[in-house]
Amino acid sequence: PSATPTPRAEIVVDLAAFRQNLDRLGELVATDTDGPAVMVVVKADAYGHGLVECARAAREAGVPWLGVATQTEALALRAAGDEGRLLSWLGVPGEDYGDAVGADIDVSASSVQQLNEIAAGTDSSGMVARVHLKVDTGLSRNGAPRSEWRELFEAGVRLQEEDRVDIVGIWSHFACADQPAHHANDQQVAAFDEALALAEELGLDPEVRHLANSAGALLRPDAWFDLVRFGIAAYGINPAPDVLDADELGLTPIMTVRADVALTKEIGRGDGVSYGHTYVSDRRQHVALIPLGYGDGVPRHASGRAEVRVGDAHCRILGRVCMDQFVVAVPDSVQAGDDAVLFGPGTAGEPTVDDWAEACGTISYEIVTRIGGAAGRVHR
Ligand code: PLP
Repeated sequence: PSATPTPRAEIVVDLAAFRQNLDRLGELVATDTDGPAVMVVVKADAYGHGLVECARAAREAGVPWLGVATQTEALALRAAGDEGRLLSWLGVPGEDYGDAVGADIDVSASSVQQLNEIAAGTDSSGMVARVHLKVDTGLSRNGAPRSEWRELFEAGVRLQEEDRVDIVGIWSHFACADQPAHHANDQQVAAFDEALALAEELGLDPEVRHLANSAGALLRPDAWFDLVRFGIAAYGINPAPDVLDADELGLTPIMTVRADVALTKEIGRGDGVSYGHTYVSDRRQHVALIPLGYGDGVPRHASGRAEVRVGDAHCRILGRVCMDQFVVAVPDSVQAGDDAVLFGPGTAGEPTVDDWAEACGTISYEIVTRIGGAAGRVHR
């Protein structure tokens, strides 16, 4: 019989909570009459939660749109059987769009060159490419700069008349949506309105106009337009922890990261812990080894800063996080084999991903995306 190694650690993803989050987000953007359509963003392996599993759960929850960055991600979803509306937005020069267009994937164009490359995908696949024209309204990232909006829209009109593309969307992305008082938000909404007016003047009438990510959707109903794109909030994480009250939001973080304590020992006064001895103990104390490290996506910035829960105790990381393990200070009662929770929904008193993000000087997005690929992810 082949031996199955005992998992060192588990990343548990609660798909029931994911579906509940999606229902809740649907409620939060519903109006008496209608409300925007919802897209769930599942790029980067669904922010580390599992692309295919999350996509499937989102469809089960009735989500009409999914969004990913790359064509590779979109094609992986089609290969897994996903048949719903799906937008992929990050192309590179020279990209062949034939497979995406042939697989009924909506794509995005930020320039005339990209639009022409997409139209070539229509020619090679025999299906008419569905395109969302992306305008830069102030993020200075993807999207046509204002000076190129007219040229891009005119090219869209021309190629649409030739039946080589179907312009189904006009869209953009916020820079500062998690800071609602930031002046860039008003400027971006105004710029997007101008882009839409220009598109209309030139004869475009897209199916969906969209601007808002999670924070934008939850903080600015005037930015809903026809569709909102929920990423981080879908995974239960507060997109604007400084301004949105978590209780009122009513979302549950769906990722729990846990491990078995691998070993415990006593260290004494003057003993250094981990590489570089950045922590030197000033007393006798009980410590535990947690079998996860930066190779699994545990940020090295957590060294000496973040805490894990073992039993009822919050236990601080001592010294540096290593590639596959780190050491925490624990109560004397803790033994090898005990359950250590790095973070979870917080309902049992464990740290949350927001606690980790704060301790590591980063954002929750980075923590879940990087750690989620660790061995042993299970969906419940
Ligand atoms: N839309 C685009 C274009 C994105 O790149 C992202 C993610 O960064 C999102 C929407 C979702 O953002 P959030 O996770 O803040 O909801």
